[in-house]
Amino acid sequence: MSTPTYEMRYCPHCATALAWVQAPEDSGLVDRLRCPACGWTHWNNPTPVLAAIVEYHDQILLARNALWKDRFFGLITGFMEAGESPEQGIAREVKEEVNLDVQQCTLVDVSAFLRMNQVLISYHVVATGEIALSPELSEYRLVDPAQATVWTTGTGLALQKWLRARGFEPQVIERYPQTSAQASSAAPNDDAASGAPTAAAPPSATSPTAPHDGAGDAVALEVDAKGLRCPQPILRAKKALATLQSGQRLRVLATDSGSLQDFAAFARQTGNALIAQHTDEAGVHHFVLQRR
Ligand SMILES: [Zn+2]
Repeated sequence: MSTPTYEMRYCPHCATALAWVQAPEDSGLVDRLRCPACGWTHWNNPTPVLAAIVEYHDQILLARNALWKDRFFGLITGFMEAGESPEQGIAREVKEEVNLDVQQCTLVDVSAFLRMNQVLISYHVVATGEIALSPELSEYRLVDPAQATVWTTGTGLALQKWLRARGFEPQVIERYPQTSAQASSAAPNDDAASGAPTAAAPPSATSPTAPHDGAGDAVALEVDAKGLRCPQPILRAKKALATLQSGQRLRVLATDSGSLQDFAAFARQTGNALIAQHTDEAGVHHFVLQRR
């Protein structure tokens, strides 16, 4: 799953090996990788990366990249592409990664992410639709802004800024440093998030294997509907929810692949919130519903 770390070694114009060459620039003589044959210069400018604080039904959507070994949840990020505005780019990323439609887009922060040689352009977006994760993401969670924890670098700073502007004082956490292999194996649109500490949600310190339930609150009840065919998982969930108080949470385990659509539809129709969903290594779907 690892990809090599690429470096610029040959001139992209004439294929001559690049060399460190001193040349006069506006600021004086500067050493850079340049082509001794045609004069092409490797400027190594930072790459623009877009990030989104996705607001969905008054909660913030955080997602975990499938390549991340730890249990961190971060913002939606991606590289800006040629021919699009930053606003179009982040709307595209949100659609590609979680299938939501961006209705509103407000700039939150622009900052240098030095270690990755990136410029992070972070937006707050209000999104609608039905969540469906791209294969790049393995899980998502929805957290209340008041409950959000933030991380100390990269996109975490933008999330902090946004929360503070709204009157929330988020808890700050440190993320375990990732190995360089993990950082470099990320798909292009994960760099901002995977290259460095970028994710929210309580880290795995509590328990690496514990299912994550929205803002981390405990679930009141669990229904094991593994092996049951549609509509049994939904019927069991309905019955269990009826025993809960408003705001209490129910976890449902199911193996029927139809349950992925069923639970989304069930939540929409009944007003009970589907606040977290993921599929574990064994192929078991975990749903956390919050009683309306
Ligand atoms: Zn050249």
